[in-house]
Amino acid sequence: MDGCIFCEIAEKKLHFQIVHEDSDVIAFEDMNPQAPVHILILPRKHIVDLLHLSSTDEVLVGKIHLVAKKIAKEKRIERRFRIICNCGEEAGQSVGHLHFHLLGGRRLGWPPG
Ligand code: 5GP
Ligand code: ZN
Repeated sequence: MDGCIFCEIAEKKLHFQIVHEDSDVIAFEDMNPQAPVHILILPRKHIVDLLHLSSTDEVLVGKIHLVAKKIAKEKRIERRFRIICNCGEEAGQSVGHLHFHLLGGRRLGWPPG
């Protein structure tokens, strides 16, 4: 998708610290980390947000969560981490390419702001 920053990262036109990649999913360090571990996990293909998922994306969404599990173990944050998907501007979504935040490595307050 032209002009989408996360598509550009997925296509390696922009370079950030990649922590996982396969044919469907890519994960990289958030450039403005909100916790000691803050990774963004996303589908390579452009999907705007959770509302734009279709039934054919079922496996993809499962895969993303298995990648989150793998990274949480690699980063040794199994005992304190959270996966967040902001959907809509008022929920804090600033990039219109579906992504899941994996946050951890510190105590996380509840409820989130
Ligand atoms: P959102 O606010 O949409 O849920 O999350 C977008 C996240 O992407 C933010 O945490 C922001 O710091 C991160 N971000 C935005 N642009 C870039 C970028 O070009 N590179 C990286 N690594 N992270 C980005
Ligand atoms: Zn995109």
